[in-house]
Amino acid sequence: MHDNTAGTDEAGAFLARHPGIAAIELMVPDLNGILRGKRLRRRELPGFWRDGQSAPATLALLDSRGALIDTIPQGSSDGDPDVWCRPVPGSLAPVPWSRSPLGQCLGTLVGRDGSPYFADSRAVLGRVVERFRDLGLQPVVAVEFEFYLLEGGTAVPPVNRAGRVPGGRQRPAGPRVYSLEDLHDLDGFFAAVTAACDAQGLPAGSIVSEYGAGQFEVNLQHVADPLLACDHAVLLRRLVRGEARRQGLAATFMAKPFAALDGSGMHVHLSLLDRAGRNVFAPDAGGAVPAALRHAVGGALAAIPASLAIFAPNANSYRRLRPGCFAPVAPDWGPNNRQVAIRLPPADATNARLEHRVAGADCNPYLALAAVLAGVHAGLAGRVEPPPMVAEGQSPPPVAGLTPRWEQAIDDFAADRLLPGYLGGEFCQLYAAARRFEADAFHAEVGNLDYEWYLPAI
Ligand code: GLU
Ligand code: MG
Repeated sequence: MHDNTAGTDEAGAFLARHPGIAAIELMVPDLNGILRGKRLRRRELPGFWRDGQSAPATLALLDSRGALIDTIPQGSSDGDPDVWCRPVPGSLAPVPWSRSPLGQCLGTLVGRDGSPYFADSRAVLGRVVERFRDLGLQPVVAVEFEFYLLEGGTAVPPVNRAGRVPGGRQRPAGPRVYSLEDLHDLDGFFAAVTAACDAQGLPAGSIVSEYGAGQFEVNLQHVADPLLACDHAVLLRRLVRGEARRQGLAATFMAKPFAALDGSGMHVHLSLLDRAGRNVFAPDAGGAVPAALRHAVGGALAAIPASLAIFAPNANSYRRLRPGCFAPVAPDWGPNNRQVAIRLPPADATNARLEHRVAGADCNPYLALAAVLAGVHAGLAGRVEPPPMVAEGQSPPPVAGLTPRWEQAIDDFAADRLLPGYLGGEFCQLYAAARRFEADAFHAEVGNLDYEWYLPAI
């Protein structure tokens, strides 16, 4: 439980360390994983840290556009009552990319009686993590993010920020994956990203230039606390976008911003420690995949079709799940293979882990991890055997794949019986209704493509 005295000290210590900070952004992740909130004045922080404050439940329950979701009970029809918002201990940090001296912190929604609010993404994940206690296991999680940098300005469609290497005026050809020249070109940006991560306590590791021109990846190092790993994830997205904006660029974590270029994923690395701190995914003496890892993979694979509406939450997410760009297209697995949904990276006994590659960079990390862990937990508890693995160096056989259709994924989610037992029945109903609402709203629009394809022809 949150300790009020320590909390007040934490706020006081933060303000003393940062005498120039005049405002603090209070942020709550919504259903989409988008941070929403408000600015507190400096003098309001100690009171908020001690007591929390009231906040509308819809802070966490908006669609991607920030609109109320008319088809759920909360918001339009119940008069949008307030719940309570409490600070997340340890989340106070300066915002180095802000023009005015600014701080930030995360909030979490609770009922007026202090119990977790059923639709708060952090609470949904917390509920699933709790289940691992029964198994005597501690999840250890690392998240990696891909994203595109875009040229600044208001061009429609946006222009990817391909490397500008001196010596020619042409835009460079080819994906330029792992290009150190392109990192050099953006040296000021990546130095600022790394410095801001350090200032905010985000454990950012290596940075690479990815397969798409202007696409990059930042790895976050593993932590033995899934909630914290997801806090890091949403904060990293905000940081990258904020730093890009400051430098006259833009960054996007859309899953597939350009049809002709690779999409952006959020890969989740997961291992499990037993009570003695031993990694239960470590290979056995003969080097074989241990039963715990097999069952974890079996459960996680079985849960993918029903969880796709979480891993790929938006219309755009489905454009990424196409063959030929290392994005998964089927619930398959194998060692050392980037074409499968769950990869077993080469690793020693300490680092043995699974890499769940289905979620797009546009996902809600809390919900994505909740879905991954629900599958893994069910696999361990039910000793679920996975299908045969894709052997190292092989291409996956063409098996029944993941649906490329958003509405189908939402229907599969709504019909599922496993996830409500982990994420909460009321939450799953709400989530399905929210995604359906957004899908309906999306298809009610008449977009550019309608005019490009049909107006000249029909
Ligand atoms: N961009 C790919 C994806 O959408 C992943 C490429 C990689 O393995 O880094 O998941
Ligand atoms: Mg990558």
